[in-house]
Amino acid sequence: MSILDETHAPKLRSFVATANGHPDFPIQNLPIGIFSRGRAERRGGIAIGDAIFDIGLALQSDLFQGEAQEAAETAAASELNAFLGLGTSARIALRRRVSALLAADSSERPQVEACLHQSSDCAMHLPARIGDYTDFYVGIHHAMHVGQLFRPDNPLLPNYKHVPIGYHGRASSILASGTAIRRPNGQTKTPDAEAPTYGPSRRLDYELEIGVFVGPGNALGEPIAIGDAAEHIAGFCLLNDWSARDIQAWEYQPLGPFLAKNFASTISPWVVSPEALAPFRIAQTPREEGDPQPLPYLFDEQDQRQGAIDLELEVAVMTEGLSRKGLPPHRLALSNTRHMYWTVAQMITHHASGGCNLQPGDLLGSGTISGPDLAAAGSLLEATEGGKSPIRLASGEERLFLEDGDEVVFTARVRRDGYVTIGFGSCRGKVLPALHTLRS
Ligand code: MN
Repeated sequence: MSILDETHAPKLRSFVATANGHPDFPIQNLPIGIFSRGRAERRGGIAIGDAIFDIGLALQSDLFQGEAQEAAETAAASELNAFLGLGTSARIALRRRVSALLAADSSERPQVEACLHQSSDCAMHLPARIGDYTDFYVGIHHAMHVGQLFRPDNPLLPNYKHVPIGYHGRASSILASGTAIRRPNGQTKTPDAEAPTYGPSRRLDYELEIGVFVGPGNALGEPIAIGDAAEHIAGFCLLNDWSARDIQAWEYQPLGPFLAKNFASTISPWVVSPEALAPFRIAQTPREEGDPQPLPYLFDEQDQRQGAIDLELEVAVMTEGLSRKGLPPHRLALSNTRHMYWTVAQMITHHASGGCNLQPGDLLGSGTISGPDLAAAGSLLEATEGGKSPIRLASGEERLFLEDGDEVVFTARVRRDGYVTIGFGSCRGKVLPALHTLRS
């Protein structure tokens, strides 16, 4: 696992004034992403307070040497796949150098200042060309809640505690935060209807997840040992796996999610590195008594000891009614990645265990992360108990599922005594009305 070094020091400050005390991007974070400014091309940058450090400009100013320079050359590109594929050592070299460049006592401050842009002047894009996207189902409380809705006596299927469940998702419709989401049209059938109809989904939902970017890949046919899995994890983001519950309910048997989920998935644009999260690693939540132990290929002492993350996840919704009355967004849930039944390393190892080749820039979703209570529900399906108990907003509006004009906003932060809090930025998307269609 990652080592703590001078880049994590709580007293470390940046000469970028907005970084000090910034809820997401103090100098201890340094997430990487792809941005553009005006008509200029997309390129790699690092978030620092309300600014973006332009890696390409810094290269032109000769601010890097050695391994950090090699890392910066790939990180300056228009997509981060090559950089993510370099792995841990290159990531650490870049992090250490950028930390020193941005520090309050930086000896290169004038040259570094010339490499900073105001974030508000820039647009953020997808960090990588996502070749493949796989969505897991490791949020056990979500699996329980959803299972209870459909199978009250037998909520968890018998495989759940033995195998990290997942399915292959759609990469082409993964969108950067801020992109509006079109409500999907689709085929649905209510239980009492005789035949299905085609039209706008009436049960549009979000799913609160984290995304994991794959770093170095594995060759086809060669599994990844659980003890090596951390080396294949390049970073983390927030992921909203938008879901049309009515389409899902009709189409999902026997092969699982299809059009109910492939119309859009939104990710936050900043890739938070395993190094930035190192102080916030915790032991995997112990399994309940009587639960099976993971099979040996999924079990590693070190992974059990510090393979989980204490990451607080928050969902809020901004509606037209709230906005009209000048009210703040309504917080729908507060959850935490400690509710993951499997670690990210177990997801990686299981994915490759049959020989599937993972590639740099592939994205893995955790699955919806809910806590045990409704206040920690990672989807409206859970929060409204299957679309039965409406959520009341301060505007007087009610919600069972998302309405047109609603904007869903995810945020996340890690906190620990003795360390500086860092966050993920936001993952947001606003719902647009369905395209007009003839119902039938
Ligand atoms: Mn999902």
